[in-house]
Amino acid sequence: MPVKKSVQKLEPYTPGEQPKAKDVVKLNTNENPYPPSPACAKVLENFDPDRLRRYPDPEFGELREALAKMCGAKAENVFVGNGSDEILSLAARAFVEDDESIGSLDPSYSLYKTLAAIRDVEWKGFGLKPSAAQVPGDVALFLWTNPNAPTGEFAEPKTVAAFARRFKGVVIVDEAYADFARGDCMSLATSPRNRNVIVMRTFSKSFSLAGLRVGWCVGPENLIEALYKVKDSYNVDAVAQAVALAAVKDAKWMRANVRKVVATRKRFVAELERRGWDVIPSEANFVFARPAHARAAEIFERLRGRHIYVRYFTGPKTADRLRVTIGTDAQMKRLLDALAELDK
Ligand code: PMP
Repeated sequence: MPVKKSVQKLEPYTPGEQPKAKDVVKLNTNENPYPPSPACAKVLENFDPDRLRRYPDPEFGELREALAKMCGAKAENVFVGNGSDEILSLAARAFVEDDESIGSLDPSYSLYKTLAAIRDVEWKGFGLKPSAAQVPGDVALFLWTNPNAPTGEFAEPKTVAAFARRFKGVVIVDEAYADFARGDCMSLATSPRNRNVIVMRTFSKSFSLAGLRVGWCVGPENLIEALYKVKDSYNVDAVAQAVALAAVKDAKWMRANVRKVVATRKRFVAELERRGWDVIPSEANFVFARPAHARAAEIFERLRGRHIYVRYFTGPKTADRLRVTIGTDAQMKRLLDALAELDK
């Protein structure tokens, strides 16, 4: 057979639907409802196509410097990927031997399991409060999502730090949603004592740039060097580097959008709770909530019929809830009105 056995039996990751229709309420893939910084639009307008004749900077020097400055790190400690998803797949390549495995919280970002399968190693889940003592020695890479997805829960940085101190392998703290939370673990990554923690961020959520495909991470120099060794030569394109740089330089725009999303989250959660839904306290730009009356799967389908897209995950730990991205107040009102209609 021309296709590897592990790939033949691979269950591919299913990303959230990207509906083509314009007039939909799209609350299913944790995108930001607000536009990116106007500085990004300006870069695109003024981008000289002649620059595309040449390959982009393989080390994304300027962007790396700007990210290092923003994170309180040195440039040598920063790596940039084609989305943080690429960084995850490079990490699986760089830090895991063929007979080792990848660990994560459970439930968590379901791509992790697929990445392990693509790498043809085992994935192991450790609930939501893992202790290093519980993790077997063959787990070489632990992916700790904080805030977690799809639950939205935030783990205190000291809890993650205690885990990492005792864990022998590499810990990637996946902070895709950290800008929406009350804290983060960046200081673990920038500490001179750090030997095994990589903190990973993305432009896709708080920076409103999911379509650009840029993520970055901060960690000890030897681990960052390993990611450089295994990446494609030109993994971040020239347009993406330029637009991401503009976004970093205008991070206050991102923070203003984050404040709006967090305020909407608070109002939305209060309303769901008033209606009897069970909502896990969220520090992300989404909530994971159990409906009061009908089944989650049924509500998901009926909302979809009304062009309102939320996310539903099958599986024993997730099937009784819906994950709803926080959009604008107007979008949340359309969702809440539709839910009230369904209850009639
Ligand atoms: N980590 C988590 C927890 C996510 O939810 C996502 C988005 N689906 C990513 C990483 C990947 O984000 P991106 O590749 O867009 O940077």
